[in-house]
Amino acid sequence: MSEEVDELGVRLKAYEGRAAAVACVGKDPVNAPMIRHWCEAMEDTHPAYRGPDAIAPPTMLQVWTMGGLSGHEGRTEAYDELLGLLDESGCTSVVATDCEQEYLRPLRPGDEVSFDAVIESVSDRKTTKLGAGYFVTTRMDVRAGGDLVGTHRFRILKYAPARRAPRARRPRPVVNRDNAGFWEGVAAHRLLIQRCTGCGTLRHPWLPGCNACGCLDWDTVEASGGGAVYSYVVMHHPPFPAFTESDHAADASGPYAVGLIELAEGVRMVSTVVGVPHDKVRIGLPVRAEFRRYEDEGAEEGALVLPVFRAVEGEG
Ligand code: ZN
Repeated sequence: MSEEVDELGVRLKAYEGRAAAVACVGKDPVNAPMIRHWCEAMEDTHPAYRGPDAIAPPTMLQVWTMGGLSGHEGRTEAYDELLGLLDESGCTSVVATDCEQEYLRPLRPGDEVSFDAVIESVSDRKTTKLGAGYFVTTRMDVRAGGDLVGTHRFRILKYAPARRAPRARRPRPVVNRDNAGFWEGVAAHRLLIQRCTGCGTLRHPWLPGCNACGCLDWDTVEASGGGAVYSYVVMHHPPFPAFTESDHAADASGPYAVGLIELAEGVRMVSTVVGVPHDKVRIGLPVRAEFRRYEDEGAEEGALVLPVFRAVEGEG
């Protein structure tokens, strides 16, 4: 049996022991305001971190080395080459897996921190649930006034994603015995409004009884489909891929408008406003119902049909 040689692995191993960052300097000295913010965020009320003799929480070690958006000058070409090799081989994804710290002496406000980092190890090729790749461990040696005060080992996995993320699924409506008739109507491309047979009041969403007279009997009327935007919100963040599809190129992966639509019959319904960029949706915009089919591979229920509202040109 011959063992297959992992040529990439051999090339990556050659980077072990090489510098990842050299002669870097902390952007700020150890200071009380950053200690206070950290302790508040961590809900750490230990008295050692307050007052004239305060020390910095040991786990803040990495904080004093962070480069912020502008980064540090001392990052080496070797480290960039190593990551470049991994990218070229298809290991384009990265996840931080763990860190280990050792503390030799406490840091105090006023300490000026400097540090170097070394590529300590590159693992053999590993197969993980995320995909196959390599663990890269860097070790940062942190100094203050020439003394080593701590080390920070940081491990990442650079990997080739196992498979593409499945297309985001539209969440299914919750169908129950009280609203099943509405969704049966939608499946048949009909927008059905519940009507109380006691007093004639129309209602949506569907309910077991009438809020106006308490009557439990009802029938339905089919909506004409006409209506207008009564109110709306534009969803910016967090992005929700299942909803960011759009028939407007400008909106393809961006914000989208969710409308509260007042139907011509008087009831209101929440749904997507289509046929217009999200920033052109406005209160009073005339719309017309249409039905969209969302193919849903793997769903037992088959394709999903939903009512949406298309902006109507030249009306209103
Ligand atoms: Zn009623």
